[in-house]
Amino acid sequence: MNKVLIIGCGGVGTVCAVKCAQNPDVFNEIVIASRTRSKCDAVAAAIGAPNVSTDQVDADDVDQLVALLRKHQPTLVINLALPYQDLTIMEACLQCGVHYLDTANYEPRDEAHFEYSWQWAYRERFEKAGLTAILGCGFDPGVSGVYTARAAKHHFSAMHNLDIVDCNAGNHGKAFATNFNPEINIREITQRGRYYQDGKWIETEPLEIHQPLTYPEIGPRESYLMYHEELESLVLNFPTLRRARFWMTFGQEYLTHLRVIQNIGMASIEPINYNGMEIVPLQFLKAVLPNPKELGENYTGQTSIGCRISGIDKQGKPLTYYIYNNCDHHKAFEETGMQAVSYTTGVPAMVGAMMLLKGLWLKPGVHNVEEFDPDPFLDEVAKQGLPWHEIFNQDIEL
Ligand code: NDP
Repeated sequence: MNKVLIIGCGGVGTVCAVKCAQNPDVFNEIVIASRTRSKCDAVAAAIGAPNVSTDQVDADDVDQLVALLRKHQPTLVINLALPYQDLTIMEACLQCGVHYLDTANYEPRDEAHFEYSWQWAYRERFEKAGLTAILGCGFDPGVSGVYTARAAKHHFSAMHNLDIVDCNAGNHGKAFATNFNPEINIREITQRGRYYQDGKWIETEPLEIHQPLTYPEIGPRESYLMYHEELESLVLNFPTLRRARFWMTFGQEYLTHLRVIQNIGMASIEPINYNGMEIVPLQFLKAVLPNPKELGENYTGQTSIGCRISGIDKQGKPLTYYIYNNCDHHKAFEETGMQAVSYTTGVPAMVGAMMLLKGLWLKPGVHNVEEFDPDPFLDEVAKQGLPWHEIFNQDIEL
């Protein structure tokens, strides 16, 4: 009997719950728990299956989490709350003997700082407990790492350059909105850029480096070099890499709004005192921005996310390789009620959970996705709505 507990019921949590419910042979029982139970109830009602139930939890509180896990006794927790809750949920999983999976690495609330060290520090404890923790199993991080693992397993004897390219060519019709949690998203985009070159990390000003890249079925889009968390584990797990970078597209309108938000202090995470009340400007901004969960209905266009890799193939010849998925916002909405950014994160989270429950990705310790066999995951993720395509020896522009 497999029982999963999904914590967090935003856009990503909703997609993951819908997709788990579509696979009842693997996910025999599903519990959705979040800070606001009414949101979980609404999702469970929309799914309308007898094996889906809900609960309430403040995932910042280890004691509450432990009580929740003892009550439901799941095999696995799928953490789709915010990165702030990663460590408390991992701690509760250890106390209750439950496997763990998430889609974003831990971030302390008071510092926009992304690194795996906090979660990797749990390796020995998970290993000793015989429990598996799978880190970063959304699209990027997530499928981006599995694509890289496929390239290494099947196509390259040595990968030299890796560029993860993430394009959202969708249109939601709003002047400004973020596609996932606005607080987490703006913290990520406004930080300094960083990429890996010849064993060193090179820092840039935020969004300083950019160039047009051509995306399949979309065409050229200005793409901006940013730091992204999966680069940290990929350069360690694939040491032949000489350069590893991450690119994301932004429209001019989005960047203008972002600049204004920063210039007027609304992106700040320093608390201020307003009329006797402590307010974090970025958290207040999140409260007035459109809810990413509600963008889906009028969203048109596609996302295109993939890996462009160059190096030496298994026969010793130079090879360029591009593996990607395009996902249509409207199709994602029709299936799950959510737009493609939530969809492309929630589907891989479900597939990663499926791999663990089937025993295919079961390895005590704390692991990034590229440390597992990419083949069963990629077979399944294609069946579950995210087909992927490969292009060999064409101009990868980077
Ligand atoms: P949302 O803000 O839409 O949802 C977050 C959910 O977590 C909400 O239901 C929220 O509850 C809940 N939550 C927040 N704090 C707590 C808490 N203390 N206790 C319990 N529940 C809590 O975010 P998204 O669904 O857009 O994103 C979810 C996660 O997915 C994020 O960590 C994000 O970084 C990650 N992500 C990963 C991607 C990838 O490709 N790897 C891409 C996109 C997102 P409430 O409703 O009460 O606020």
